[in-house]
Amino acid sequence: MAALGGGEGAGPVLRRGLSLRCPRCGGTRLFRGWFAMAPGCPLCGLRFERAQGYFVGPVGRLRVLWGAFGVVFPIWFFRYSRGLWLALEYWLNPEP
Ligand SMILES: [Zn+2]
Repeated sequence: MAALGGGEGAGPVLRRGLSLRCPRCGGTRLFRGWFAMAPGCPLCGLRFERAQGYFVGPVGRLRVLWGAFGVVFPIWFFRYSRGLWLALEYWLNPEP
């Protein structure tokens, strides 16, 4: 069994992915244009689309996750938003 991240820690691998570089070597960009993704890295040979429809599942899961976040977060944040707003208003204008 191959080691996670090719034996490298998660930090550098995720940093390369978030900077839209090849997660293995960081030598090439993931995208050729705004939406056109390169098929793979010419330097290290890593295939970016690892199977047919590889990115369809994660996009759907992220959509569901953000949808749930969009419902839960405002409810959870409601009390904090009022407390934060009151504190900010009091700080700016102590006497009403
Ligand atoms: Zn590479």
